Amino acid sequence: MGTLSFQENKLLSALCTFGIGGPARYFAEIHSIPEMQQAILVCLERQIPYFILGKGSNCLFDDRGFNGAVFLNKIDFLERPSTEVYHVGAGYSFSLLGTQSARHGMSGLEFASGIPGSVGGAVFMNAGANGRETCESLESVDFVDESGQFVTLKKNELHFAYRTSSFHHKKGAIVGATFVLTPLETARAKQIEIITYRKKTQPYGDMSAGCIFRNPNCGHAGALIDQSGLKGTQIGDAKVSEIHANFIVNVANASSKEVLELISLVQAQVKLKTGADLQSEVRYISPEGVHE
Ligand SMILES: Cc1cc2nc3c(=O)[nH]c(=O)nc-3n(C[C@H](O)[C@H](O)[C@H](O)COP(=O)(O)OP(=O)(O)OC[C@H]3O[C@@H](n4cnc5c(N)ncnc54)[C@H](O)[C@@H]3O)c2cc1C
Repeated sequence: MGTLSFQENKLLSALCTFGIGGPARYFAEIHSIPEMQQAILVCLERQIPYFILGKGSNCLFDDRGFNGAVFLNKIDFLERPSTEVYHVGAGYSFSLLGTQSARHGMSGLEFASGIPGSVGGAVFMNAGANGRETCESLESVDFVDESGQFVTLKKNELHFAYRTSSFHHKKGAIVGATFVLTPLETARAKQIEIITYRKKTQPYGDMSAGCIFRNPNCGHAGALIDQSGLKGTQIGDAKVSEIHANFIVNVANASSKEVLELISLVQAQVKLKTGADLQSEVRYISPEGVHE
């Protein structure tokens, strides 16, 4: 496969925060935009389905693996063309960007501190916390499209909403993002407050994919799960966290099947007890591809 170095049968459990998942048929680490272009072109030519992976903190890979190519985004530069402007590679740590920008006295991404994803994953998911979302300080996105072309998309050409973006319907890879932040003396203090609260209220050291359900219109998913008496419910090694009911944690060697069964059980019980419909926020990747 071209000059890129491809591996076969790479275990996905080692590449995601859930610690779950079988092998990817093909796998490559991508360190530059030309490499990403090449990877996408190879898949296009050979009609191989592909999946772009950031830090794997919002993914549930199937135990049977993925019958295609997984490209791990390691494009991780950081440039500051001016005080307010941060141009970052999509593989850059979103949490680190949140901490660094706050340390610089810049506001807009304090909430990112502690979100264990990449910048690309945060843009794709429109990650958010503490009432803020990634799209708010975003100016543009560098993208390699499905035909391998590099384009820069302005925010007004894109659509963002609660934990979703136009990229859910676009084939290709986010390779960079530009954020415009604002000076604020208290940015660092705010960011420290956010990370301290996060560590107290979330099962931070456990294997999980963060919040498993989107918040429905009628309230917080975590509160509805708690009210339904489901904290601590366990199927095999998949467990509804005792610390935060909207987290499913892998206590040792959970399988994707156990997590999916627990998701269905929680959805059914919450529907029965509160009438609310919970939708998964996590991306489930079966051998055939992504299921939202
Ligand atoms: C402990 C913990 C706490 C969390 N807290 C929060 C929180 O407060 N708020 C929040 O919103 N989320 C939270 N999350 C979820 C997760 O961290 C975010 O959704 C994050 O933005 C995902 O980034 P990632 O790089 O890990 O994406 P991945 O899990 O690698 O991928 C997620 C999706 O994005 C796509 N994707 C990733 N990178 C690219 C790219 N470069 N180009 C195209 N597509 C791409 C993937 O194909 C996949 O469909 C938490 C997770 C954990 C484990």
